[in-house]
Amino acid sequence: MTTILFENPIFLQHETPEGHPERPDRLRALNLALEHDRFQPLVRRRAEQANEDFVLLAHPEAHLRSVMDVIPEEGINHFEADTYASPASLQAALTGVGGAIAAVDAVFSGEADNVFVAARPPGHHAEKNKAMGFCFFNNAAIAARHAQKAHGAERVAIVDWDVHHGNGTQDIFFDDPSVLFCSTHQMPLYPGTGAKDETGAGNIVNAPLSPETGSDHFREAFRSRVLPRVADFRPDLIVISAGFDAHHRDPLAQIHLQADDFDWATAKLMEIAERSASNRVVSVLEGGYDLQGLAESAATHIFRLMRG
Ligand SMILES: [Zn+2]
Repeated sequence: MTTILFENPIFLQHETPEGHPERPDRLRALNLALEHDRFQPLVRRRAEQANEDFVLLAHPEAHLRSVMDVIPEEGINHFEADTYASPASLQAALTGVGGAIAAVDAVFSGEADNVFVAARPPGHHAEKNKAMGFCFFNNAAIAARHAQKAHGAERVAIVDWDVHHGNGTQDIFFDDPSVLFCSTHQMPLYPGTGAKDETGAGNIVNAPLSPETGSDHFREAFRSRVLPRVADFRPDLIVISAGFDAHHRDPLAQIHLQADDFDWATAKLMEIAERSASNRVVSVLEGGYDLQGLAESAATHIFRLMRG
């Protein structure tokens, strides 16, 4: 497998207040883990800032404007209680979008089999019209739309294993059967959506997990609810909203996964991608707030992408 990692130092310049879990150290911790020799074959590329038009693949112009309005000239401003912006945040968010777009281009051109985009801020809580839950623009949704618009993908599956429900992605594709959205997440937990009966146009699959459950429940939900739907959908591309906050060390949730569970889930999705999508997988970083849990889990996920 050829795996590309998209990164950019601008992602460290999106600042949040002292003590905020979504902090630059997350990417520093991942970078340290990726210094291991086994990551030598990983192709590391610089994500470039996307033209603002790409944001409009998943959000109306009013949303883009409202994000721009919140960016401060100095210090830190906020959208709502937990979602903050610093002077470099717009550039960072647009570079995350740029990474997601370039990732899709790389797997459709054959330059890579799969790609991991190590960006922040994350994206999956960003609804069509709303920045929330640390997220500005929905990178996974933009990637899916770009695959359809620029590369003729007919069906894109987005699998979201972040411990929080991907309400933003669900909102964007709720009435669009060309995109399958499958999510495992703790419930109850922020943002409160993600019940089994939220099914959209039959293209939304929610597999909520009870607090204090672990690997067995996660794998069972994945095996019984997520994998069969993704396989039946025969996607041309699989996008992973890769949050690692279901790791047992994570401070924001109570699901007890191990790094190995992310390896397992990655391998299962890669099997489907091999059958229907010429291996194409684009994985974008979402949450994960314990530095050790995040670094270990994301590194395990990336190493699986590299090995096939
Ligand atoms: Zn999360």
